[in-house]
Amino acid sequence: MKMKKLWSPTADLIVKNITVYTVDLTIDEIRKGKTDFSIIENGYVASKDGKTIAVGSELDEKLIGPDTEVIDGKGNILIPGLIDSHIHAMFAGLELVNVNLKGAKTKIEFIELLKAKAAVTPKGEWITGNEWNELVWDIKEAPTKDDLDKVSTEHPIVCSRLCHHVCVINSKVIELAGLTKDSPDPDGGIIGRDQDGNPNGLLYESSAIGLIENIIPELTEEQRIEGIVEMGKILNESGITSCIDANLAIDDMKAYLQADKNQKLTYRANMMFYLDKNSGDIPYHLNKIKEMPAVTGFGNDMVKLNGIKILFDGIPATGTAAMRKPYEHIPETSGYTTITAAEMIDVAKMAAKYNWQIGVHSCGDKSADIAIESFVEAYKVNNNDARHYIIHHAVMQPDQLPIMKAYNIPITVQPTINSLMGEQGLIGKELAERYMQYKTFMDAGILVGGSSDCPVISCNPFLGMYSAITRLSVADGVVWSPEQVLTAAQALIMWTKSSAYFSHDDDKMGSIEVGNYSDYVLIDTPILTATPEKIRDTTVLKTILNGKVVYQVPDQK
Ligand SMILES: [Zn+2]
Repeated sequence: MKMKKLWSPTADLIVKNITVYTVDLTIDEIRKGKTDFSIIENGYVASKDGKTIAVGSELDEKLIGPDTEVIDGKGNILIPGLIDSHIHAMFAGLELVNVNLKGAKTKIEFIELLKAKAAVTPKGEWITGNEWNELVWDIKEAPTKDDLDKVSTEHPIVCSRLCHHVCVINSKVIELAGLTKDSPDPDGGIIGRDQDGNPNGLLYESSAIGLIENIIPELTEEQRIEGIVEMGKILNESGITSCIDANLAIDDMKAYLQADKNQKLTYRANMMFYLDKNSGDIPYHLNKIKEMPAVTGFGNDMVKLNGIKILFDGIPATGTAAMRKPYEHIPETSGYTTITAAEMIDVAKMAAKYNWQIGVHSCGDKSADIAIESFVEAYKVNNNDARHYIIHHAVMQPDQLPIMKAYNIPITVQPTINSLMGEQGLIGKELAERYMQYKTFMDAGILVGGSSDCPVISCNPFLGMYSAITRLSVADGVVWSPEQVLTAAQALIMWTKSSAYFSHDDDKMGSIEVGNYSDYVLIDTPILTATPEKIRDTTVLKTILNGKVVYQVPDQK
């Protein structure tokens, strides 16, 4: 009788000779400002069937059996698997599969990169490129159809600029879209033209880019899965084992389910269904919420429904975030919301009725006012543990804090955006003083999750932590709101236990504790005591998901 195959008292995996940063805090303790979690020197963890079965300082040799994999951590640091609580992971992965043009330093290099793809792509199939930026080229001149025609006139080619607001297409796409001298510019968009008025291949703003959207073939499930797999590699290399992937449509979610079924998924995907205004009006979406055959929490420990994502306003730098007062830097506007306050409240109430959690993109103080009001209304409909949350909350008003505390409304934020894009320096003094005030939120007892919004910015959580603990804007060299600087422990908590809260997983992950998922990251830097620069440059040595190594730094072992 082979009893051992059915059950054995030994571990599947042991990581020993490590310092364990456990992050063994409860959400309540974090809200109260506690940051001194247990640190185990000369420690070990043991995992069995994907769960942590022991963590401590004296390794019990009885845990080691003939099939136990033992990893010597060589004195490095073990932290919980990191969690990105707001990312567009699948879309970022799809951009990786496309031709990445960011590295091109000249127009010739731009053309060469696309030519290489054309050489391996059957004629007639689409070629997609991302992230060209003529401002870094020797001659700062945007590409046109003539440049893309040098790549190929037999493949339809479309390339989006780094900003996602401009696209360039070749003659083949112009022909397929039926664009001519006589095509009028759509509302809010521009079709670029040559001296004779013929389309030159450039399309400005989403309404103009929309003119070619219906001729671009739908992504296949294989392509979506390829994006998920490619992104998994990047996430694991960054120490990320779980994320909330926002803005997904049904077909994207199906691809996730399939990737999981085929055992190709290397991160826990908490999927946010996108209330996309382009696909229907509010009554359409209200009906959709009602008809969805699943609710928040549906799924398994790898793929699970998180909530409904609502893009409620824009960003302060461009004056598109909805503010209580007109902008200092663009006084003619106070921004706008994408749907009305009444619609937002209707959506929140309907979501609550059908047990959906909602996450609202809100950057302005006015849009946050309405989002908060809608959450309060939602909790009147269904006083459950929904955990409705705000994504970004870039500009805070102090009078919002008590109500957010009363209803436990958390926010998920992206410190790297400020560090690399320097928005705080662009929006005038008054807004800058209320911009990304993470410490104020935390001091008020509001939970703050760490995230990247990748592909907007790099998903590297150590870069995010560096940004949160320095508040240095690399863009302008200024340390913005130095009084808002966080400690390294606070930053680590943001990307672990606090982020786990947003997917209702804080009892299963975000800390290294017995009973939790065996999601660990072995890193080379003692981030609680290291300098900010060392934290930023942390190397992930191993990423372990469900007790299995999913990433290992090259040249190790
Ligand atoms: Zn986003």
